[in-house]
Amino acid sequence: MTARHRIAVIAGDGIGQEVVPAAVRCLDAVAERHDIAFDWHHLDWGSDHYRAHGRMMPVDGLDILAGHDAIFLGAVGVPDIPDVHTLWGLLIPIRRAFAQYINLRPVRTLPGVPSPVFSRDPIDLVIVRENNEGEYSEVGGRVYQGSADEIAIQESVFTRRGVERVARYAAALAAGRRGHLTSATKSNGIVHTMPFWDEVVRDVLADFPDVTARQELVDALAASLVLHPERYDVIVASNLFGDILSDLAGAVAGSIGCAPSANLNPPGEHPSMFEPVHGSAPDIAGQGIANPIGQIWSGAMMLDALGHAAAAAQLITAFEAALASGTRTRDIGGTATTAEVAAAVVAHLGPS
Ligand code: ATP
Ligand code: MG
Repeated sequence: MTARHRIAVIAGDGIGQEVVPAAVRCLDAVAERHDIAFDWHHLDWGSDHYRAHGRMMPVDGLDILAGHDAIFLGAVGVPDIPDVHTLWGLLIPIRRAFAQYINLRPVRTLPGVPSPVFSRDPIDLVIVRENNEGEYSEVGGRVYQGSADEIAIQESVFTRRGVERVARYAAALAAGRRGHLTSATKSNGIVHTMPFWDEVVRDVLADFPDVTARQELVDALAASLVLHPERYDVIVASNLFGDILSDLAGAVAGSIGCAPSANLNPPGEHPSMFEPVHGSAPDIAGQGIANPIGQIWSGAMMLDALGHAAAAAQLITAFEAALASGTRTRDIGGTATTAEVAAAVVAHLGPS
């Protein structure tokens, strides 16, 4: 019987408009080979919507999304509208409303994609970033604005429930991989929230005797990710640290254009959201040269989360084969267009 999935698609801004159609094409092609049918519901939300209506999405936008099995997002953000309107008008409300508390960011060496730094062995790690709390809070404010005495305060909010569930997810993930978990901390400088993070992570790890865990100061961890990225398996980090480390690790593995992410609601009570790590890349938008691999790989993560592991694996194998055969965009040293990469991925799926 055909498995049907209703997917909300927000291509958004800039290259989102280019890489999302490329990925949808690849997803439809792999779906056909696995008796899966995607029912794409395209939503023209983003900065143009903001310009026309003063909002990134309609007032009932979250209710509309709630009726879907998953959300497939390109990118939001443009140079002339502050992020506080774009990111905080769409991305952050979705992550919070649907309790997408896990931000999963796999980083792997891809065939034909050179790393800008030396690495003896292939990189194969996953960053599990806490996605709902921590440093990205609205608690705080500014006083004495404009005066020499001006003060800005930004509070971090860590809850036991929040740290526990991300630590548990990361430990379980590590248990199913190579069994190594690294927890990013900064308890030598941040004396309340980070020791709390360390404590809760340690408590959770008591339930995972087969996982070897270490905690590393985030500054040292950043340096070590440049020098020895192949040593890492699963890294669990707070919202801010995970954000920084995943851009860093993505760049070390090759290009930010290849990096995927999943914003997961693990209980499956709400839709999860799948989006590439990169942004709207205004500098190359409209030229048809954006790398669609991050978006396609995010699509593979969506397939996996919807219960189609075999289809996800086939899609990953196909884009790896396309890259290996030399079909690469400019950011990773090739000359192919976005559409040519998508066509090559479909070709490498083999006969339907
Ligand atoms: P945002 O605030 O939305 O994250 P940004 O400008 O900080 O935007 P990106 O949009 O990710 O970050 O762009 C960073 C750089 O990486 C740009 O030079 C962009 O051209 C390049 N880049 C990002 N994504 C891709 C891609 N898919 N293909 C090719 N180049 C990309
Ligand atoms: Mg950015």
